[in-house]
Amino acid sequence: MSACSTGRYTGRFAPSPTGPLHFGSLTAALASYLDARAAGGDWLVRIEDIDPPREQPGSADLILKALEIYGLHWDGEVLYQHTRLDAYREALAQLKESQLAYPCTCTRRQLAEYRPSYPGFCRPKTGTPDVPHAIRFNAQDQDITFPDRIQNTQSFAMKELGDFVIFRKDGLFAYQLAVTVDDEYQGVTDIVRGIDLIDSTPRQITLQKALGFPPPRYAHLPVITNEFGDKLSKQNKAAALPLENPQPILFKAMTAIGLPVDTHVRDASHADMLQWAIKHWKINRLQNQEAIPEAQLSVI
Ligand code: GLU
Ligand code: ZN
Repeated sequence: MSACSTGRYTGRFAPSPTGPLHFGSLTAALASYLDARAAGGDWLVRIEDIDPPREQPGSADLILKALEIYGLHWDGEVLYQHTRLDAYREALAQLKESQLAYPCTCTRRQLAEYRPSYPGFCRPKTGTPDVPHAIRFNAQDQDITFPDRIQNTQSFAMKELGDFVIFRKDGLFAYQLAVTVDDEYQGVTDIVRGIDLIDSTPRQITLQKALGFPPPRYAHLPVITNEFGDKLSKQNKAAALPLENPQPILFKAMTAIGLPVDTHVRDASHADMLQWAIKHWKINRLQNQEAIPEAQLSVI
């Protein structure tokens, strides 16, 4: 399945089950849902559960339950990444075959002074070293430019970002590889996600090129920030979404993504609110916005 062959919009929301949804993740889910529905497209949900040490038991179910309660109904079956290991293994083999993947035996300590970008020490290595090692992708110092529907044209030098890990020393597949393989597998044409992931995009584009996948379109949303200017996240203890009475928070999420809401929308059922939002969605209301302070959001 490839994004170009159908021409039909396919979007997705791809949470990691590391905790319940919070207001920030709801706005990202909502924007990607509205963008898909306004285009008459499909909207898929993928649970990115390939990093057990970071996961919190029960949170995948809690996330899905929250999406349902907030009226964000997805198409088809939820895809769980833990069922996709064979596909990741195959992609890894293909990259090794093309000599674009190499074992890296560097320790965290050796790399400390070069953080955050890897200086390519192990690039000449081949074979399978008999010491613990990660596998890195040789991004060949490419310059990557892509159009972003919200943040305009983006350019990144892979020389600065460095060769990145695609298979971890602890035996787990890395996010960059899994997400690239699955976006292609699911025929995703449009990725709408937080700007905090924008420097993952050039990495994913280099993998798409190496694996022969057509590139999706991208839109990186502003993140919602707390009173200290930090992105709402599980790490800084953003509150879990309440699982009852979704209207007020859904309404607030609509104001966050630029919808021109008024009191008659606020007083509607959450299903009617969403119908209204699909009709009025315009992604360019968010043009060039990188952060939206939660405290500024009006709740009429
Ligand atoms: N699973 C990633 C996260 O929760 C997002 C993946 C994506 O949207 O590409 O941060
Ligand atoms: Zn190395």
